[in-house]
Amino acid sequence: MQDQLFRKIENLYHEMVEIRRFMHQHPELSFQEVNTANYIQSFYEKLGVEVRGNVGGNGVVAKIYGSKPGKTVALRADFDALPIQDEKDVPYKSLVPGVMHACGHDGHTATLLVLVKVLYEARENLNGTYVMIHQHAEEYAPGGAISMIEDGCLDGVDVIFGTHLWATESTGTIQYRIGPIMAAADRFEVAIQGKGGHGAQPHKTKDAIVAGAQLVTNLQQIVSRRVNPVDSAVVTVGSFVAENAFNVIADKAKLIGTVRTFNETTRDFIASEIEKVVQGTCLATDCSYEYLYEKGYPAVVNHAAETEFLIDCASKVPEVKKVEESEPQMGGEDFAYYLQHVKGTFFFTGAKPEMSGSYPHHHPKFDFNEKAMVIAAKTLCAAAIHYQSQEHPSYEKRETLA
Ligand code: MN
Repeated sequence: MQDQLFRKIENLYHEMVEIRRFMHQHPELSFQEVNTANYIQSFYEKLGVEVRGNVGGNGVVAKIYGSKPGKTVALRADFDALPIQDEKDVPYKSLVPGVMHACGHDGHTATLLVLVKVLYEARENLNGTYVMIHQHAEEYAPGGAISMIEDGCLDGVDVIFGTHLWATESTGTIQYRIGPIMAAADRFEVAIQGKGGHGAQPHKTKDAIVAGAQLVTNLQQIVSRRVNPVDSAVVTVGSFVAENAFNVIADKAKLIGTVRTFNETTRDFIASEIEKVVQGTCLATDCSYEYLYEKGYPAVVNHAAETEFLIDCASKVPEVKKVEESEPQMGGEDFAYYLQHVKGTFFFTGAKPEMSGSYPHHHPKFDFNEKAMVIAAKTLCAAAIHYQSQEHPSYEKRETLA
């Protein structure tokens, strides 16, 4: 059964490439992906697959039913692009100025659409139900996942799998991780209010730049002195603005930064530690402040048994040469929200281009090896169909872990 499906996926490689390149030429920004959503929806309509559009915004959810009973497995692919000018010299370069699929979400969509085509043809021999979650707006908080979940995309779902094509890892590698694989990505803002005045009369002012400079330094002690060293965290001040003339003491300064963490306790702890440091620094410099902490996506935390199960499935794919543990990534992903509701795992599919050098994700020259889509489709396929088998050792493990 598996080998038959794998062969069909291989035979549809050209269609995968076609879909991916069409999407690559017609990218749309987060929350504006109307044409892409229509494209996905009509793909399913033409196949005769049950599909619902406008799920929690521009999301699309399709369902196929195997003829035999079983579990409900969800597979997720995102489909938004980025505000980046495509600088690649390829025939499928973006036709939209300033907008580009620079993260591989076009590849995620092509992978899932073709996989579904194969599963749908084989539905007579399949157990269970398959829910395809085509998610809009992954790149821009609050993201599309929350609203799609609120609109019922996970109703009745037992497990979810998702992958990200990873252009900096060799094609043929699958990377997994039990527990946190991607970080919570938050943003903070501190507005310092001093008292401006003449640069030659500091004693009559409250210097917002001096306060801000001390604050940048004092914030460094949070990760180095307050967070448990075995727990990873980042506090970065990415912007410090206090524009003024050379002979004027600054009235105001504004600092903006990001915090990355892997667990909720550390996340909340850092949010309150920042305020403590701001408070203390402003007290010492006689300034006042406003503090804002905005939570972005939480950490993507993979479930243990489902990740172990995925490792088994990936090993069954002939093109997979290496299945290895990923380092935790400091980037964010709103796949995190699905994993807060149902069991599942998110993994990386190596997609480094064969010939040209690889550029990082979100780079104007970003591209990936399209053959990796076959590997992603086969791995997801194996996960979807084998999850149905109650005898699977990982399944028993799951029962004992619960
Ligand atoms: Mn992405």
